[in-house]
Amino acid sequence: MSVSFWQEPGAEKRPEYAEVAIIGAGLIGAYLALRLREEGRHVAIVESLHVAGGASGRNAGMVLSGIADNYYQAVERYGRSEARTLWAVTLRNRELMLGLAQRFGSPVGMGGSLVLAVDDEEARELREAAALLHEDGFSVEFHPTDPLRRGFCAAIHDPGNFVINPVHLVRSLIEAAGARLYEGSQVYALESSEDSVLIRARGLNLAAQQVILATNAFTPLIEPTFAQVIIPQRGQVLITAPNPPVLKLPCYANRGFDYFRQLSDGRFLMGGCRNRAFDEESTYADMATPRVQAALEAFLARYFPDVTAPVERRWSGTMGFTPDGLPLVGRLRRDERIAFAVGFNGHGLGLGLMAAEELLAELRGHEPGFFSARRLMNEAV
Ligand SMILES: Cc1cc2nc3c(=O)[nH]c(=O)nc-3n(C[C@H](O)[C@H](O)[C@H](O)COP(=O)(O)OP(=O)(O)OC[C@H]3O[C@@H](n4cnc5c(N)ncnc54)[C@H](O)[C@@H]3O)c2cc1C
Repeated sequence: MSVSFWQEPGAEKRPEYAEVAIIGAGLIGAYLALRLREEGRHVAIVESLHVAGGASGRNAGMVLSGIADNYYQAVERYGRSEARTLWAVTLRNRELMLGLAQRFGSPVGMGGSLVLAVDDEEARELREAAALLHEDGFSVEFHPTDPLRRGFCAAIHDPGNFVINPVHLVRSLIEAAGARLYEGSQVYALESSEDSVLIRARGLNLAAQQVILATNAFTPLIEPTFAQVIIPQRGQVLITAPNPPVLKLPCYANRGFDYFRQLSDGRFLMGGCRNRAFDEESTYADMATPRVQAALEAFLARYFPDVTAPVERRWSGTMGFTPDGLPLVGRLRRDERIAFAVGFNGHGLGLGLMAAEELLAELRGHEPGFFSARRLMNEAV
């Protein structure tokens, strides 16, 4: 949604002040707020909806090693050494996530996760992926047949993966950060002046020394520079009423397009199927659609006919995809006081904290790191 002329606070309204202003109260904004607070900085968070109102409050809660591509695909796409670095980064991210969940008493479901092949081609890729992972020192277990005995073709088990309640974690981070929080304040412009960046938001003018965009998919709506490199992709989910136990581990299948887990209370969560309607799902619109929801139900009926509990809720969330599948971290050349960590390609729980750490290092004067946006936005950052 845009902000109308009538919703503006008015240029005459005296700005409030913050040393650091983070835009976006999702996982990344919350984590950055906590880390900056620990460094003694005074932080404000400006959020258009409410805490965890975006993808961070709408995801499947799976904290997984790697990215949506399996390791074989990642080696093909990025090269061996880059893929190895990327996986190592996600393992460190996983440790950070677990540490935070434990620190804040946020529920965690341990035991690992499965990546499942839906056809012989994917099974061949998973075999290759597991072999490459072993060679590179990552411990996973390859199953040449379906460990669930439900018609999948092969699987990789990563024992270190886990699931969380994402909203509980984000709320805990925000609370611990103790940052000033402006909810319902959609930012529509960032204006640079000599002594600060003026954030113009619905009902708020806020001047800050440092601004951080933690707005993931929505970043191009504030900074058009990102229009070519952040592409919105809707993700849809359904959840059933409690069902007798059918599945112990969270699962990723069909090259990451489909994912599912059973919650400890028996509810079965099924998400994905975006690739059944690419044309409709490249959008900011927040709604569950008949086409994707029917695909989710068809997947369930095929592989889990014993999930008979009725669907209780359906929802959607917006992910930010980048052309090369990796996040974007950096500072804008037009005003280096405006920094960003965005573009998590549907995997922000898996690598978002490390992208945030990379941004913090850059702000402390280190060289741009692995996720530097310079690779795609050389003119602008
Ligand atoms: C259905 C679904 C399932 C997913 N499952 C998983 C999973 O299992 N594992 C995993 O790793 N990842 C998953 N993801 C991806 C993951 O949720 C995201 O990568 C992650 O939450 C990104 O966090 P963020 O803080 O960058 O973005 P967000 O959580 O989207 O936060 C951005 C915030 O910025 C706010 N904002 C936007 N524009 C403005 C503005 N103009 N002014 C003020 N505020 C603004 C938004 O309201 C939002 O709260 C899933 C995503 C979806 C949608």
